[in-house]
Amino acid sequence: MTIELKKLTKRFGSLTAVDAIDLDVGDGEVLCLLGPSGCGKTTTLRMVAGLEYATEGDIYLQGARVNDLAPRDRNVAMSFQFYALYPSLSVAENLAFPLHADGLSRAEIEQRVKRISDTLQLDKILTRTPGQLAEGEKQRVAVGRSIIRDPQCFLFDEPLSRLDVQLREEMRGEIKEVLQDLSKPTVIVTHDQLEALTMADRIAVMRDGRIEQVDTPHNVFQSPENLFVAGFIGTPQMNLLPATLTGTNGHGTADFAIAGGQSMTIEVDPRIADLAQGANVTLGIRPRNLEISHDPAPDGISTKIDIVEPMGAETLAHLSDGQHDLRLVADWRVPLSEGDQVHTRFPPGATHVFTENEQVLRSAP
Ligand code: ATP
Repeated sequence: MTIELKKLTKRFGSLTAVDAIDLDVGDGEVLCLLGPSGCGKTTTLRMVAGLEYATEGDIYLQGARVNDLAPRDRNVAMSFQFYALYPSLSVAENLAFPLHADGLSRAEIEQRVKRISDTLQLDKILTRTPGQLAEGEKQRVAVGRSIIRDPQCFLFDEPLSRLDVQLREEMRGEIKEVLQDLSKPTVIVTHDQLEALTMADRIAVMRDGRIEQVDTPHNVFQSPENLFVAGFIGTPQMNLLPATLTGTNGHGTADFAIAGGQSMTIEVDPRIADLAQGANVTLGIRPRNLEISHDPAPDGISTKIDIVEPMGAETLAHLSDGQHDLRLVADWRVPLSEGDQVHTRFPPGATHVFTENEQVLRSAP
């Protein structure tokens, strides 16, 4: 089973909520649609489920075009959260609830409840009511309810959004495992990057109705294709420093002027040589890749440490060159003192260069 979206578009009057997106979700694959509020994630999901009619483009499930099929005939399961149990019904009754509308026989319902409770390890708590369950158990029941109709694919819209932080963390791992066992194409909508990074096989990062990048969690983090993805993925955010290319010296070493009068010579992608001198670029470097030293060197700029925030194993420091703020995350043993003037270094291979049209020159390895 696969999901294929071809040039899928949704307009609400003059607003284009989803703008000609192409996307494939493979058999057994978990794909997360990730992006800021209003970028079109839910609308995309609703079109796949048949709850919203596509203005243009095609939706294929298992190779068959389903645009004109009613939601019921698509055999997809869309659920909005894993947390809607009926408090007065037992676990077994909660699980069976979605099946009653399907007119299945009693024996068939029992068989499905058994299968799902085996998969989710709910067999010992089938007679309890939600009030008698631990939080993690409630979640597993809620997942069970979402998937018991045995649909061809699963669509989840912000499934963990109502949970407290600790439970979210537990559930992320647990849901990933369950989804892997079920081996059906799954689309999860989330605006929480950690959720996407931990649960997805691939992430589609969306902005303004378009897909900016579709890739593995590792690649969207390590090799963002453009400035938006670079800034959106990663906590703390990637440092993005405007600069002007003033010279290239072969093998990817280049000179940059930074607004405020400083300059540096750092190693970036060799394709920097393709850019014209004077080109405006944005240099991107993750806070964990920046290094500091007390001796000046050409591969960085001088900054002042404004704020130091210990975070246990690591320390977050806010640095400033007077014009730009940079964040540095360092091992807790690195001595960092507020008010110190330090040299902030951009180590070889760690800096992404984004051109004026916001595309990456190439990602750092
Ligand atoms: P969120 O995470 O906030 O739900 P989202 O990425 O899921 O955001 P959508 O809900 O898909 O975004 O909305 C995309 C755009 O379409 C938004 O600008 C939204 O206001 C608009 N929109 C969604 N549904 C409708 C509707 N029924 N009528 C008009 N505009 C709509």
